[in-house]
Amino acid sequence: MTLPAAASPDPTHDELIRIVGCRQAYHKESAADLVVLDDVHLTLRSGEIVGLLGRSGSGKSTLLRIIAGLLPPTSGQVLWKGRELDGPVPGIAMVFQSFALFPWLTVQKNVELGLEAKGVPAAEREQLAENAIDLIGLGGYENAYPKELSGGMRQRVGLARALVVHPDLLLMDEPFSALDVLTAENLRTDLIELWAERRLPIKSVLLVTHNIEEAVLMCDRILVFSSNPGRVAHELSVPFAHPRNREDPAFRQLVD
Ligand code: ADP
Ligand code: MG
Repeated sequence: MTLPAAASPDPTHDELIRIVGCRQAYHKESAADLVVLDDVHLTLRSGEIVGLLGRSGSGKSTLLRIIAGLLPPTSGQVLWKGRELDGPVPGIAMVFQSFALFPWLTVQKNVELGLEAKGVPAAEREQLAENAIDLIGLGGYENAYPKELSGGMRQRVGLARALVVHPDLLLMDEPFSALDVLTAENLRTDLIELWAERRLPIKSVLLVTHNIEEAVLMCDRILVFSSNPGRVAHELSVPFAHPRNREDPAFRQLVD
């Protein structure tokens, strides 16, 4: 008799993240535990930009921290390329809402930080950081300090710091929400263009946002997150938002 194959991790070759039945409860001293995520399931594959759209307080940042390996879930499974994730991995990088730059370090040094942690030699660090800074449109600002830059430029530094490690998966936690409308639009447009031209050294993006227009314009799949507790309640595909479909009349009608 042949037994059915065991349910061992056996992802298709392009599967990056698989989350199965994830739950997160925060302990509260004087009240019942706060259940922030319950029964979250999701899969992220190589090559896609996925949006995670949900209200403030619904647990989106919590879920991102879990995927980044910064927070072990209360229960449930998080698989990175088919293996249980048990801490940060080099293949995942994150961009934060509030940039999270070190004010006492130059742009160049802020960007090099991710590489230092990986033990990349100094000369190579310098070159990789310069490439990332150029790519994101900040060439010439290597020796500036964060306080000398505008919000949009600071978030470009945050992006360069994430891109410099050439992660397979880029996590972005409301990366444009601290920026004014025009600055956010410039940065979004630049990112969409770099992605379409395949110049970003990444394979996949998970973009957290509470801006539905942004999700529709940037993502080819949108996970709609419910609140109390957070879970993936709906999934929408936006076939025309994919860069290769940007000339589609349906997409042009939306953006022109
Ligand atoms: P979102 O990013 O969708 O706004 P968060 O994941 O930041 O949501 O927060 C979800 C809920 O969990 C909020 O009610 C928040 O106050 C609470 N929370 C977040 N982090 C912690 C923590 N470290 N300890 C306790 N409660 C937390
Ligand atoms: Mg958040």
